[in-house]
Amino acid sequence: MNIKRLVKKEVSRLRAYNAKEIPCRIKLDANESPYDFRPALTVAKDISTNRYPDPDAAKLKRLLAGHLGVKEENILQGNGSDELIYYLIATFGGPVLYPVPTFSMYGIIARALGERTVEVPLDAEFDLDADKTLQAIRKEKPKLIFLSSPNNPTGNCFSSGKILKIVEKAAGIVVVDEAYQPFSSEKGFLPLLKDCNNLVIMRTLSKIGLAALRVGFMVAGAEIVAEVNKVRLPFNVNSLSQSIAVAALKDKKRLRNAVKTIMSERDRLFEGMQKIEGVRPFPSEANFILFAVKSPDKVYGALLQKGILVRNINDAVRGCLRVTVGTPEENSAFLKTLAGIIRNAR
Ligand SMILES: *Cc1c(COP(=O)(O)O)cnc(C)c1O
Repeated sequence: MNIKRLVKKEVSRLRAYNAKEIPCRIKLDANESPYDFRPALTVAKDISTNRYPDPDAAKLKRLLAGHLGVKEENILQGNGSDELIYYLIATFGGPVLYPVPTFSMYGIIARALGERTVEVPLDAEFDLDADKTLQAIRKEKPKLIFLSSPNNPTGNCFSSGKILKIVEKAAGIVVVDEAYQPFSSEKGFLPLLKDCNNLVIMRTLSKIGLAALRVGFMVAGAEIVAEVNKVRLPFNVNSLSQSIAVAALKDKKRLRNAVKTIMSERDRLFEGMQKIEGVRPFPSEANFILFAVKSPDKVYGALLQKGILVRNINDAVRGCLRVTVGTPEENSAFLKTLAGIIRNAR
């Protein structure tokens, strides 16, 4: 039988997401935290492996609701926020609008589900182009708008005035993806939820040291949560992840210290990169820094040859690479190696 011909048109056109492991000594490519939560793993021994997980993730949601000052009915848990992007698009459909460059999963998932995408370029400062976005909203009437703020891979927050205007003018749901909010100096959009019934906030535990667990969540009005919950698979967050996430989130001091260190290291990394002639880092509110160099492909390869893995963003943002903030030692090694590579290239 010809399997290819059986596959849906929109799926046969896709390519599998390329997340292959590249061997390296210092891994600064995936916006992970350099600090893990090993002590939280001890709770794993109390799990009954023969039983299904709590389908409602009740303990986890109660804890998150307390931290965020919302009700449990306003939270929906996901196997990473990637899964929630999938559920949101499955629930509301397209067109799906997002600025570019941004997190690639909005487009990938929309296409996998056969929905049309509308991409609006960011302006020269990597901020939202409000005029073009509002124009596209009027013309395309997107059911869903995804705004990553702080934005991946550029690192900046979008102007809150522009986001507000979009929320106000949209005829559909606006999702503010706050995956990097813990590292940001801005307040975020949670306080606006009660006034905007088409607003969804997405958060994740992945960037604060728990990427292995795959736990993300969205916060929204109870009506939106109830609708999206209809497409959620019953046991989407497994027992290990639920328990370990609860244990880790209770360790507030460890969480706070890790985030604080990463933020101060980000600022040191930024200043260090600024001092290297031929390197232009862009200000960041996240746990990574986008930077421009003259020959990004060569610099990427030279760093890797020295064992340092960063992300090559040259396709999405011309001339740019992205480096995740690591431990102080890793950041120092990165700065020294980068300076050496640039010096040798002259
Ligand atoms: C990393 C990232 C996510 C994915 O988070 P998971 O919870 O690990 O699926 C979502 N949004 C943005 C903008 C990200 O950079």
